[in-house]
Amino acid sequence: MGKMQDLIAKMTLEEKASLCSGLNFWHTKPIDRLGIPSIMLTDGPHGLRKQVDAGDPIGLNESVPATCFPTASALAATWNRELVKQVGVALGEECRQEKVAVILGPGANIKRSPLCGRNFEYFSEDPYLSGEMAKSHIQGVQSQGIGTSLKHYAANNQEFRRMMIDAVIDQRALHEIYLAGFEIAVRDAQPWTLMGAYNRVNGTYCCENPTLLAAMLKEKWGHQGLVMTDWGAMNERVPALLAGLELEMPGRSDENDAMIVEAIRTGNLSQEVLDQAVERILEMTFKGQAALTDDTTYDAEAHHALARRVAGEGAVLLKNQSNILPLEKGARVAVLGAFAKTPRYQGAGSSLMNPTQLDNLFDEMVKIAGEEKVTYAPGYQLGNSAIDQALIDEAVMVARDADVIVINIGLPDIFEVEGLDRTHMKLPISHNRLVEAIIAVHKKVVIVLSNGAPVEMPWVEEVPAILEGYLGGQAGAGAVADILYGIVNPSGKCAETFPLTLEDTPSYAYFPGGPKTVEYRESLYIGYRFFETVGLPVLFPFGHGLSYTTFAYEDLRLSQAAITEQETLTVTIRVRNTGERTGKEIVQLYVSPISPTAFRPKMALKGFEKVALQPAEAVDVTFTLDRRAFAYFNTGIDDWHVESGMYRILLGSSSRQILVECQVEVESTQKDVPIPVADRLPAYVNFPSDAKINDKDFSALLGRPLPPNTISKDELATINTPIADMRHSFVARRLLKTIRKQAQTMTQDDPDSPTAQMVQAILGEAPLRTLMMFSGDTLNRGIVDGLLMLINRKFFRGLATVLKSRRRKKSKSK
Ligand code: BGC
Repeated sequence: MGKMQDLIAKMTLEEKASLCSGLNFWHTKPIDRLGIPSIMLTDGPHGLRKQVDAGDPIGLNESVPATCFPTASALAATWNRELVKQVGVALGEECRQEKVAVILGPGANIKRSPLCGRNFEYFSEDPYLSGEMAKSHIQGVQSQGIGTSLKHYAANNQEFRRMMIDAVIDQRALHEIYLAGFEIAVRDAQPWTLMGAYNRVNGTYCCENPTLLAAMLKEKWGHQGLVMTDWGAMNERVPALLAGLELEMPGRSDENDAMIVEAIRTGNLSQEVLDQAVERILEMTFKGQAALTDDTTYDAEAHHALARRVAGEGAVLLKNQSNILPLEKGARVAVLGAFAKTPRYQGAGSSLMNPTQLDNLFDEMVKIAGEEKVTYAPGYQLGNSAIDQALIDEAVMVARDADVIVINIGLPDIFEVEGLDRTHMKLPISHNRLVEAIIAVHKKVVIVLSNGAPVEMPWVEEVPAILEGYLGGQAGAGAVADILYGIVNPSGKCAETFPLTLEDTPSYAYFPGGPKTVEYRESLYIGYRFFETVGLPVLFPFGHGLSYTTFAYEDLRLSQAAITEQETLTVTIRVRNTGERTGKEIVQLYVSPISPTAFRPKMALKGFEKVALQPAEAVDVTFTLDRRAFAYFNTGIDDWHVESGMYRILLGSSSRQILVECQVEVESTQKDVPIPVADRLPAYVNFPSDAKINDKDFSALLGRPLPPNTISKDELATINTPIADMRHSFVARRLLKTIRKQAQTMTQDDPDSPTAQMVQAILGEAPLRTLMMFSGDTLNRGIVDGLLMLINRKFFRGLATVLKSRRRKKSKSK
């Protein structure tokens, strides 16, 4: 018997069940008599958020200083696997010093809409890029013996009603878009843990979804680790365990553990299922403990330098007319925008952490060019979008004396917050007005953007240069200064499309849905898959990013002109630096089926490589494509299928700039696979450029009637109903009032902060299930069930249940 089985054999039923939920916010439960330790699991993803005092899942209480690396949007824009891995290694080192066994992240959710409030924490609109980045992050962290938690599995693509919304997705979009990135990361990097998302997918909560957990993750992809809930995402404990969810976080009370015990006793759950779950929990626990035995310390300065390097590779030069950049060191530069002194560098919510140091753009530019060359004016107020004419006038005055103007604008904190989606893609009006005022008086204007997701740029035609700095982490400002002065040659590329307007985005009409469901009617056509298929103009395409040098693509070679799906295809291209500076190019390979029967977007990314080249240097870049590069998910066989036919292989420097291409013939070896009607619906074969899909077509795609999306009057409230939806009930209104008061007390120090707004938003939308998590043991399941009866007008039974549960709780605590 192995060590784990040995331990399991010595455990009582109650001990086994106890391990299935946490001890508190951040720790697992120990069993002292058996030498089973408690380990710490904490956020993540772009830096360590270790709270030493009271824990909370939303960044209310301060955490120990740690390096704030660029957030995932910026990491993905590096398209650099090795660099992302190095970030992972650094995170692992910080965890070891702080005795944290598992860092929660990375987040591999797909950017379905630019509005999702947590897009800054996610990588891309493309599953391949997203999966490759997640894999590298995980490999880096886990090389240090520290675990990761790949999140939020799955289809958690919005914050609005995230605790209960049902994502209605057809099987093809689910597999080809929303699961594909997770699949890559799981298969290739084996994250110690995955975090089940709050929402439902096709009717079932992610944390008790046997298709997502047992069938896909464990069986098909072979995940060896464990699955834990997102914080407070547990719905019903026993179905969750049966579906393949081992660990409930955070630890709340022992109620759910008792349900496990009860289910075993009544025969509703087998010993075997519980033992398997316990084994996975023990594996993680002991691996975590082993990593924390040494007294490693990390080099905070080296990590800061790494953060700067990464931010430098993640920044994207969107536009650079007449080579206005890089700046001459001798130029007189006016730096405008309050972000230049108070940087916007990370998002709010559970990832909000406490950096070891923080650069700002003004100081970093002064360090490079000297004090006499750089002047500053704030131009707009922080924490308030209203136009401040006096600040604008002052900025115009400062601009008049300068050779070049750098304007640092972007999204204020409150625009990018966990728990809240954006409602538009606009910059604050004060930021746009500042730009307008400056371009009216000066020609040489460089915009530096600080934001975690795309914005509309009404002034795009009138400014010669735009540098997207993203949320670059604690050293992001230094990295921007490096690029502005040409110390670093920009090499980042957009990991998502920048649409011209929000209305152009394919999910526009269906996002964020609610009150019950969100329908993914656009199916596979998201991001560049949509824009390239329907040929709509965009602001900046997926994969776009400029350099201070230029590259040429030459001599495309294929290993064979025709392959069977069992063979691999090797594609080689020579890339040459044709400019005068050393630089890096990201070569992108897209596959485009020529006349598919099943509906397919025009092209999909299937390979990328980032190469560094000296002036005049050339290098061969090789890609190996296997059957998955050509396959689609066939809903008839419930598996991947390659259609025989011709495929174009496109190589380019963005989805819109294909520089060379060729064709390959691929022959299927699974000959008699029919292509179901749903996979070739005319509405999806000829996808409309307004992305409008009617009920009938979407229902045909799903293969079932559309689930209802209205709350009927006589519907009974459950633990998953947001309390705000139960306003008809006096009890619910009282409860809501108490919660709001509580939220105010929690955030009274800074009521206008993004965190405060997030608390209000989260509590405003919270179901009783979430309140149970926040209340510790105060609201137990019995009390909640009683409250629900009261709310559902079963007054006497409700009252009796509440009183009984309170009595039981009291006698237990005596
Ligand atoms: C977030 C997770 C996070 C967890 C713990 C949740 O609210 O969705 O991403 O890891 O809290 O803080």
